[in-house]
Amino acid sequence: MTEERPVEIRDDLRALPPYRAPQIDAAVRLNTNESPWPPPEGLVKDLSERVSRLGLNRYPDREARALRDGLGARFSWPGEGVWVANGSNEIIQTLLLAFGGPGRKVLLFQPTYAMHSHIAHVTGTKIVERTVAEPWALDPEGVARAVGLEEPTLTFICSPNNPTGTAQGLDVVRAALDARRGLVIVDEAYAEFGGESAAAILGRHDRLAIVRSFSKSWRLAGARIGYLLGHPWLVEAMQVVRLPYHLSALTQACGEVAVRHAGAALSAVEEIVVERERLAKELQRVRSVEIFPSAANFLLIRTPVEGTKLWRALADRGVLVRDFSTLPTLERCLRVTVGSGEQNARFVEVLREVLADAAEEER
Ligand code: PMP
Repeated sequence: MTEERPVEIRDDLRALPPYRAPQIDAAVRLNTNESPWPPPEGLVKDLSERVSRLGLNRYPDREARALRDGLGARFSWPGEGVWVANGSNEIIQTLLLAFGGPGRKVLLFQPTYAMHSHIAHVTGTKIVERTVAEPWALDPEGVARAVGLEEPTLTFICSPNNPTGTAQGLDVVRAALDARRGLVIVDEAYAEFGGESAAAILGRHDRLAIVRSFSKSWRLAGARIGYLLGHPWLVEAMQVVRLPYHLSALTQACGEVAVRHAGAALSAVEEIVVERERLAKELQRVRSVEIFPSAANFLLIRTPVEGTKLWRALADRGVLVRDFSTLPTLERCLRVTVGSGEQNARFVEVLREVLADAAEEER
């Protein structure tokens, strides 16, 4: 229900709920795909030294050159083709502000990351969608057909996809690019954990925008850093809508220091992938639980119990996961972030208890 406001919000936003993943205190928090481990000590130490020397009386580098160059070097890509922002959400917002808006269309393949449609709404961009059937792998012909028919200015492909974990093939990205002259945005927030990155074909496609995040693999969700890899013309176009000095000196410093410690910061990726496979195996031993293949740092599971009921029962026992059971094709599905071995074990233990209770109730 929308409450009465002293001044009414825009008509087209009245029915739109804010993004609201519950942030409640729980012993085991596996609901927002963060890393269970803090960034490496060396990084934190260098960062605090760096922060103590920042001249905060001055505005930061509006162009964030050092961070962009540092990130570009990781992909042998020029800094002019990199943009940085407060989380990859802001990158997505900047893209939609510059290329979306009234009279423009964005094509989404559902189920996918909720902020794609949310930001499209907020920017007044028309949303056209296709629902993808389980197991949620996009097929190149279907994608080309949808792009050809809808003629969107922007097409989103999320790989690995949130919340399904599905890695989409590069043939899908190519098909979207070849079908029409529009922007193809590949959301790679989880790319370090698996799947093929579109970075491999970036040089050949000037309408390709790759969106990446420091929130998952880099263990820096609290720092709010995301970036774009694309052609310099695209970064240039984004300048029109970005706010001046949008990325604070503190954030830029954090990004620069992180890039210098990339090896250590990203070392946890391998452990998470090992934990993911271990957790999937454990869950296979829980009767009546279906686990879907994942290339990300989370797993989507389906159980016989109604999703919201199961979510609540787990939360009541101190285990916070994410309920996706109300989305099309995701009946009775929950998403669990891969945590530390201990957290994952606790999740499986509590899940077993709750499912046993539910089975007992059925009898
Ligand atoms: N893209 C996807 C697919 C995500 O799942 C998320 C975070 N859940 C984001 C982008 C945004 O991440 P951030 O703004 O923290 O970089």
